[in-house]
Amino acid sequence: MKKLVAILLVLCMAFALFACGGGDSDTGGGKNQVGAFYQPDLVICDYDTLTTLPEDTFNEGVAEIIKHAAIRDAELFALLESQSLYDNLEAVIARNVTIKRDVIAVDERDTGLRQILNFGHTIAHGIEKHSGYSVSHGKAVAAGMVIESRGECRARITALLQRYGLPTRTEFTRAQLVSAASADKKRAGGKITVVALTQIGECRLETIELEKMNEYYYFTM
Ligand SMILES: [Zn+2]
Repeated sequence: MKKLVAILLVLCMAFALFACGGGDSDTGGGKNQVGAFYQPDLVICDYDTLTTLPEDTFNEGVAEIIKHAAIRDAELFALLESQSLYDNLEAVIARNVTIKRDVIAVDERDTGLRQILNFGHTIAHGIEKHSGYSVSHGKAVAAGMVIESRGECRARITALLQRYGLPTRTEFTRAQLVSAASADKKRAGGKITVVALTQIGECRLETIELEKMNEYYYFTM
């Protein structure tokens, strides 16, 4: 029987995880398309390789770790807040693979639940686009998560991102980012699906009219 094995080395840190967001398969840019709809039978991740990455690159992967915790795992989020990621790398990565696997297993065709993996990515895609892709994906997602969250969730995400030297704001305007998001292919019949954190570790999908996007995202830092 043919087995599909995902070997995650450096890519693991990008939490590309064979299709970064659920997420990035929505960009239409051809990024991370391989394997987007096929579940591997086995995931091999070389932790030693990760520790050889430049700090900046490593931290960009942390943005996706924070995303997974924020949408799905309050306990993981609290662990990231209270302990060193480096001391818990193996466990944290295993949790991330599990979170992603579980979400994708429920929704292999990116039609429903999988969209929660887009948290931070609607705004991130706009940042990437307007920067001519000079802002890296991890950094764009970091700022995107701040803009796409509110209240206590926003405060906790911001504090965690800052700890890893990740940006919590962007130079681009609300109008620029909203127009980029409107052009996003998630758009269906004048509506867009957004990921709303209800509290750290929990979220729900909301479908809103494109005109409401201006009010939906909270840009004031
Ligand atoms: Zn991503």
